[in-house]
Amino acid sequence: MQRSLVDEVRSAIRNIPDFPVRGIQFKDITTVLARGPLFQRIIDHYVARYREAGVERIVAIESRGFVLGAALAYAMGIGLALVRKPGKLPYQTLRAAYDLEYGSDAVEIHQDAVLPGERVVLVDDLLATGGTAAAAVRLIRQLEGRVHEVAFLIELGELEGRMKLAGEEVYSLVTF
Ligand code: AMP
Repeated sequence: MQRSLVDEVRSAIRNIPDFPVRGIQFKDITTVLARGPLFQRIIDHYVARYREAGVERIVAIESRGFVLGAALAYAMGIGLALVRKPGKLPYQTLRAAYDLEYGSDAVEIHQDAVLPGERVVLVDDLLATGGTAAAAVRLIRQLEGRVHEVAFLIELGELEGRMKLAGEEVYSLVTF
């Protein structure tokens, strides 16, 4: 683990109290993305982690997961699959319902987005209660994909989202 990378990412994250609703400490990653060399080192860090792992596809969760997931898929030269909020994907979809800290209640994936037996890394910006990522894992499993690891930039440790991902490998760069 590159200690300095973790520290730099941690200090680049902007905390917004009471957004989008009272009581939520919103972790704003736009201040991370704005720093080109730092963003590049983050993606390089994940590439190094997964380069030798036989990962065949990145699955990214809407919407900030897309930013990290797209950069990682590009850097690894592998395909990207999108997990989106209901009604956004145009082709035939599978849907999984979930509970989260705030907001939406289900995610969808195209039925051909992950191939049977494919080894995937699921990516999102932040692990809170884990409901969103757990629902996305269910979708990948329904498509018979194999989840190598679930990767986040940020984990809110006290919400114990890892419990909902029991049985999965879970990796986060920064934990609050
Ligand atoms: P959860 O399903 O509770 O793990 O929520 C994770 C999803 O909600 C991720 O896609 C995050 O982008 C978003 N999210 C939840 N809580 C926060 C927070 N405190 N700051 C930023 N994003 C959050």
